[in-house]
Amino acid sequence: MISSTYDFIVIGCGLAGAVISREIAERSNKKVLIIEKRNHIGGNTYDFFDEEGILVHKYGPHIFHTNNKRVFDYLSRFTKWLDYDHEVVANVYGNLMPVPFNLNSLYVAFEKEEAKKLEEKLIKKYGLNSKLTIAQLREQTDIDLIKLSEYVYKNIFLYYTQKQWDITPLEIDPSVIARVPILISNDNRYFQDLYQGMPLEGYTKLFESLLDHPNIDVQLNVDAKKLFNIRENKIMFKDNDFNGKVIFTGAIDEFFSCKFGRLPYRTLDFLFETHDLEWFQTKGTVNYTVSEKYTRITEFKHLTGQKNKMKTTTVKEFPKAYTGADGETPYYAILNDENYLLYDKYKKLTEGLNNFYLLGRLAEYKYYNMDAIVLKALILADNII
Ligand SMILES: Cc1cc2nc3c(=O)[nH]c(=O)nc-3n(C[C@H](O)[C@H](O)[C@H](O)COP(=O)(O)OP(=O)(O)OC[C@H]3O[C@@H](n4cnc5c(N)ncnc54)[C@H](O)[C@@H]3O)c2cc1C
Repeated sequence: MISSTYDFIVIGCGLAGAVISREIAERSNKKVLIIEKRNHIGGNTYDFFDEEGILVHKYGPHIFHTNNKRVFDYLSRFTKWLDYDHEVVANVYGNLMPVPFNLNSLYVAFEKEEAKKLEEKLIKKYGLNSKLTIAQLREQTDIDLIKLSEYVYKNIFLYYTQKQWDITPLEIDPSVIARVPILISNDNRYFQDLYQGMPLEGYTKLFESLLDHPNIDVQLNVDAKKLFNIRENKIMFKDNDFNGKVIFTGAIDEFFSCKFGRLPYRTLDFLFETHDLEWFQTKGTVNYTVSEKYTRITEFKHLTGQKNKMKTTTVKEFPKAYTGADGETPYYAILNDENYLLYDKYKKLTEGLNNFYLLGRLAEYKYYNMDAIVLKALILADNII
């Protein structure tokens, strides 16, 4: 039975909701109820053992990485870690080259002599161990480097980005493209963060430990929309005033019944496949940058360190527009001025409330990595408590 006697109600049991709940429960000794519409905890990081006993990530592969010591230390209270350096290769007409594109990729993409010449030029111009974006690589005048930049743009970014967003890279917010750098180094790791790895027993176990506190109750299979609404700058809980605090981590447009229109998102169809093989591919993720309708294939055992000589499970990701249909999940906010304006209209509806907080990738209409959302939750807790 859900009652309004809690001090805090947190909507959504992803990282944002679980971390803020733990902080409030522990540091202010207040009672917290988490309401989650799915039938499981963990939000998009949820993992489980499939029918063949392979640990898989239901909503796509999640690799933890951060440079933030506070975040790493915080999560380390709830899990041990498996050391894992994620590596991604692009399949370019059958050749597998490291992504982000780096000095090793040059030698897969070009003949040895040419690769060597390009390597020398890149090091001379940008310096060994430097990082640049595709946009920066395209802004120079050397004829060989122009050729290289066109190669990388066409074979690594263009088709992949079109599949992912269904628009040309130029139409996308530059911060999205800037997230995948070009590395003037031989470091094949996908992330260069100080701390990276996987929760030793998986994300769901991490969440079980995070939520294991006497002041936290979790109610699954309940859509907050059915319990709450906002009327005359007051939060109504089952048609009564609610005087506690609400932290909302769901989609803000859906909370307001999309009254100004739907905030646009990209979603993904996932195709999980189990193979009678020890290994399906050589690296955790293979990006299909010039072919196929799916963007990438991830093989979970590489990420989780699970041993199984007979079986392995992979997932293919097929991006498409989010329509709000049943079973679809909004994954990637489409960041542009028009959508920010629409988001602001929804946000304004909450601004007169002093006990309603928006937190998380859906509530804030932003892309956050896991570490960023943990940090946001910790900071919000600092402010509220
Ligand atoms: C395919 C993919 C791969 C990713 N890989 C990585 C990675 O490798 N590394 C990394 O750092 N980050 C990764 N991320 C980002 C990561 O998923 C997010 O940082 C994280 O999920 C954000 O947590 P959150 O709590 O804000 O959102 P979510 O995890 O989405 O949690 C929100 C929860 O709220 C619930 N909810 C929504 N509305 C309601 C409602 N009305 N009532 C009740 N409950 C509701 C939802 O069901 C959901 O469980 C990836 C994201 C995607 C899409």
